[in-house]
Amino acid sequence: MNNSHAISAETLNQSAAANRLRRMHDRLSAAYGPQHWWPAKTPFEVILGAYLTQNTAWKAVERSLANLRQAGALTLDGLRSLSLEELGRLIQPSGFFTRKASSLKAFVAMLDEEFSGSLDVLAATPTPELRRRLLALPGVGPETADAILLYALGHSVPVADEYLRRIAERHRLVVAPSGRIRYDALANLTRCAFAADPPERHARLFNEFHALTVAVGKAHCGRTACCEGCPLAADLHRVNRKS
Ligand code: SF4
Repeated sequence: MNNSHAISAETLNQSAAANRLRRMHDRLSAAYGPQHWWPAKTPFEVILGAYLTQNTAWKAVERSLANLRQAGALTLDGLRSLSLEELGRLIQPSGFFTRKASSLKAFVAMLDEEFSGSLDVLAATPTPELRRRLLALPGVGPETADAILLYALGHSVPVADEYLRRIAERHRLVVAPSGRIRYDALANLTRCAFAADPPERHARLFNEFHALTVAVGKAHCGRTACCEGCPLAADLHRVNRKS
């Protein structure tokens, strides 16, 4: 089965769902305003954060980043100079530190061996090729790869996460016969939602949309949905009335 068939089987009336998602973005944007993501000063800090935030709350990531800053290791050269053990010790607050330290070292090794040690050279690689290369690295799944592509390297790709999966499930935007909505289905739905916008705005819109879904997820749509006062409650009521 090719990818497009898989998506059409999984997505119930994708065009209508994409239109609703676009309107949901507008409501969130009106409610929360510009999010100014990613919370980092440099592209390399974004990459560090994208690895460290896996399965971890951002507060814990901040503690690891503070340790790295204190050790002068918030730069590529700083990270190169650390031993694997030292790196693991510094990022311990964000959990899974042995695996994350190895993964970060593997990223830097790839950068040095294949991209002249330069994030600019890495960023100049065409998006599909770069995404495949990132996904081949240890510790990099689709969400981490897309967060690096969008927020650190400026590529126009949507980022999906657990908050968006919950929203899509609760608002019945996507039907998943297997029981769990696939990452690619969420990313494709997001791409469709902004397809009518000018292409030069897509990176900005994907950036804001991901940040806004995190904002509503934290405020309302966690493991238990707190729909009262949620900017997306009207959409949910409409879906429930129809069913
Ligand atoms: S809290 Fe309720 S209304 Fe808000 S996004 Fe989640 S399911 Fe929708």
